[in-house]
Amino acid sequence: MSGLPEGGLAEGGLPYFHSVTLDPDKCVGCTTCIKKCPTEAIRVRKGKARIIAERCIDCGECIRTCPHGAKKALSDSLSRALSFRYKVAIPAPSLYSQFDDAISLDRILGGLLGLGFDEVYEVAEAADLVTAATKRLIAESEGPRPIISTACPALVKIVQVRFPSLIPHLAPLLPPMEVAARIVKEVLHPGEEIGVFFVSPCAGKVTAVRSPLGYQKSAVDGVIGIKDIYLPLRAAVAKAPESRLSRATRAGIRWAEPEGETRALGLGKTVAVDGIANVIGVLEALENGKLKDVDYLEALACPAGCMGGPLTVENPYIARGKLSQRVAGLQDPTDATRPYPGSLDWDAPIKPRPSRLLDGDMLKAMIMLEEMEHRTSLLPGLDCGACGSPTCQSLAEDVVRGTAVETDCIFKLRETVRVLAGQLLALEELKPPGLDKD
Ligand code: SF4
Ligand code: SF4
Repeated sequence: MSGLPEGGLAEGGLPYFHSVTLDPDKCVGCTTCIKKCPTEAIRVRKGKARIIAERCIDCGECIRTCPHGAKKALSDSLSRALSFRYKVAIPAPSLYSQFDDAISLDRILGGLLGLGFDEVYEVAEAADLVTAATKRLIAESEGPRPIISTACPALVKIVQVRFPSLIPHLAPLLPPMEVAARIVKEVLHPGEEIGVFFVSPCAGKVTAVRSPLGYQKSAVDGVIGIKDIYLPLRAAVAKAPESRLSRATRAGIRWAEPEGETRALGLGKTVAVDGIANVIGVLEALENGKLKDVDYLEALACPAGCMGGPLTVENPYIARGKLSQRVAGLQDPTDATRPYPGSLDWDAPIKPRPSRLLDGDMLKAMIMLEEMEHRTSLLPGLDCGACGSPTCQSLAEDVVRGTAVETDCIFKLRETVRVLAGQLLALEELKPPGLDKD
């Protein structure tokens, strides 16, 4: 077993790419992760977890949850970045929250240069351009309300997979990471051969770069997890000089935290939500016709926003405190945000990915659904997960799809054994007809 997510083909007939993967050697089949996955994308079969590719949204919840460290995010190595002749680091604003606020932004950025990057460009600077574009969108769009932020890639995917009817609500704008990379390549270094690497708190961004949603190609050449370079970066920061490198505004830096985006917009009718379970609750409310008087919904899959990303090192709530203290002590730079002359609009449509559809043929799907409901009613309804499927209903679905059998349920197995034992006893008492005097 490779540990890569299994099954399904993405648009264009290629297999889905996912950053989140399983290390089969570390997985003990404990089933802890199956309960936490927001899209029921994990099954445990033959003692090992498996990820169903078309359902996974790369939220990283299973990385956070696995007590055995068996789930991990595939990201790029620092050595890959350093193999480029000229390499530019574009750090996420959440990187700053991983350091005490007494350490200046300039020294954190200087630390990235100390690791071997030739230049840094802050994603927080590009965030200000996305804020301005979002304000314009809110003022001019006649589409459905609220408009939903698309900065979080896991949010975009959960809408595709679980809430496809909400796709028209998605803000068709590039995320700050992508705008930052385009500014570096198109404005600061046009025509040059350079490598641009995002320093990321988030597994979803790794997938977003390899398999973008809403835009055809990413300008980011690779994604390095904060936790993968944190120790050498700390050492480099300790040696970095106080030379001026940071040009980010406080509003741009605050995009890392919950309500950062809505606060930057400065609009009254907004809702901000973080943590995937809370996000699902709000999307369900929206699907049920609530929130129509809200202009903008900021929804971040990780708890405490990007500071709770699975590739960070600090406790998300401690990191949030550190970022708040840092921002409170900052002045906005006097030089203006560097403009981007290109478009911030999406250039590719987002299509629904309803992974729960039982079959492409509607009639067949309805028959299967009926069978699934019947099978669910025969299961104990405890949702214990011991069968390797997250709920009794999902086991019934797996049976109907042919990927599990009813006796994977220990209660059903016990029932079957009891019936078999009764039949064996009855057989034992049978005598050949010649000896049976009754
Ligand atoms: S939590 Fe999931 S991935 Fe981790 S050991 Fe248990 S079954 Fe395996
Ligand atoms: S990354 Fe999220 S969606 Fe994918 S398997 Fe893990 S918990 Fe489920």
